[in-house]
Amino acid sequence: MEQIGTFGASPYEVGDLQLFNGCDERTTSQALAGCAIVRLPHGAQVKDGYSARMYIVLRGALEVAADTSSGMSDGTVSKVLPGESVGEQAVLDDTANLFAISASEDSDLLVIEADLVWRLIDQCNGLARNLLRLLSFRIRAANAQLRRRQKLGEFYRQLSLNDSLTGLYNRAWLNDMLPRMVATAQRGGTPLSLVMIDLDHFKRFNDTHGHPAGDDALRAAAGVVSAGLRPTDFAVRYGGEELMVILPDAGEQLAVMVAERLCWRLQEVVVFQDMRQGLPHITGSFGVACLAGDASETTLIERADAALYRAKQAGRNRVAL
Ligand code: GH3
Ligand code: MG
Ligand code: MG
Repeated sequence: MEQIGTFGASPYEVGDLQLFNGCDERTTSQALAGCAIVRLPHGAQVKDGYSARMYIVLRGALEVAADTSSGMSDGTVSKVLPGESVGEQAVLDDTANLFAISASEDSDLLVIEADLVWRLIDQCNGLARNLLRLLSFRIRAANAQLRRRQKLGEFYRQLSLNDSLTGLYNRAWLNDMLPRMVATAQRGGTPLSLVMIDLDHFKRFNDTHGHPAGDDALRAAAGVVSAGLRPTDFAVRYGGEELMVILPDAGEQLAVMVAERLCWRLQEVVVFQDMRQGLPHITGSFGVACLAGDASETTLIERADAALYRAKQAGRNRVAL
């Protein structure tokens, strides 16, 4: 960044500078006369030693990359063209320019020090108005960018809460949501039921048909479970070949009915579309538990587990309460 002269001795005029629209040309020219003009070759960065200054592009163009200090930059770059400025916000709140500013072509910049900007603001309402308008525009742009980031964040959050094989909710989701659902049910005095499902002899299924077929079977089981629920119920992949269903507002009777229905549908589901392979079926054992008193979510899961164990003991492919 090399100083090539001053504004007063250059061919540029106040009329070229958007920010000074509406200001008295003669007094503004006088005030700016001593300001440095620096030359920035293509690709070079504005290095201002962390002081607050305003730059106005006289020739060429700058690229401003969004605030990189937070590590949150999403690669958004805005262009600053002749007549436009950067750094006015740094001047107004007296912070260093945190943005990475570089020349996208050979450029000449007018440098205005912070104290001069303030003096000019005091002298010229037009400049104050132009700055307000510019800031308002920048806030809108920043808000739009925030909204885009929020959407992206939501997208990744969703990804991290769903199991990639089955599409059901995963443990991270369960750990977050089940305690809340238990608390809601206890506060409102409403029932809450849990069904723990474990596929039967699934190791044997894998050994016989291979793991890819095992994955198909898991997906088929997840499909049966999610298709058999009300929109207010939740299906979770608890781990391996264990699924879980959460039934808010459902008492014992209803929960057993739902589990029976799922159990029956599961043994009917076709895993392979290719009939030549025969039709190996899958079954599951189901353990149902309902929230009682001020039990914790851990107790609820333990009771569903105990019921599941009884269903296994009693011969599998069945529901136990
Ligand atoms: P049980 O009826 O007593 O539940 O017998 P099981 O064979 O189902 O129980 P076990 O716990 O011995 O075996 C569970 C099997 O589930 C072993 C494991 O390879 C399989 N499994 C777990 N996760 C996956 C998966 O994502 N894909 C496939 N293909 N298999 C899985
Ligand atoms: Mg298991
Ligand atoms: Mg099993």
